[in-house]
Amino acid sequence: METPLRIGILAVQGNFREHAEVVRRLGAEPVEVRLPEQLEGLDGLILPGGESTAITRLMRLYGLDEALRRFEAPVFGTCAGMIVLDRNHLGLADFAVQRNAFGRQVRSFEADLDVGMGEPVRGIFIRAPWIEDAGPDVEVLAEVDGHPVLAREGRVLVAAFHPELTDDTRIHELFLNQVREAMSVRA
Ligand code: GLN
Repeated sequence: METPLRIGILAVQGNFREHAEVVRRLGAEPVEVRLPEQLEGLDGLILPGGESTAITRLMRLYGLDEALRRFEAPVFGTCAGMIVLDRNHLGLADFAVQRNAFGRQVRSFEADLDVGMGEPVRGIFIRAPWIEDAGPDVEVLAEVDGHPVLAREGRVLVAAFHPELTDDTRIHELFLNQVREAMSVRA
């Protein structure tokens, strides 16, 4: 049997338990990350949704911001996790986000997203950001009202919504496939 993928989940604040559950359901091993040394040997990393201001502050406190800038495997950021990856935060991807872009509490909503995988993906948006400005290498995979909400740039995948809050695992599977591809390139 092949050894399961080891997927780190940044666990300083937010929806890390829900992501860990999906990762486990897909046969990979979730690893909660709170300290820089816990990034060692991971095949990929998920930055969950939550509160980007809190996540940014805690990452700095634990020295995770510097460690993440050196992390080389694929990264998947959802909602606040997408904010944390942008040009104005960790700078791991070439886009800038608009926080709370759909409006504050009132604009928590669900939408069917055409992501080119057959049946649409039901996106749960909670005070969600969107991508405001993207560099040429950013591939937009889904939009709401013309605003990018699912995108990929090289090894970085980002979603403005919460795929960990539905039973549909296709977005996580997309990420795990990206992880497997990166491993076969390295091997
Ligand atoms: N609005 C939050 C922020 O700016 C993100 C919301 C979420 O992750 N659900 O950090």
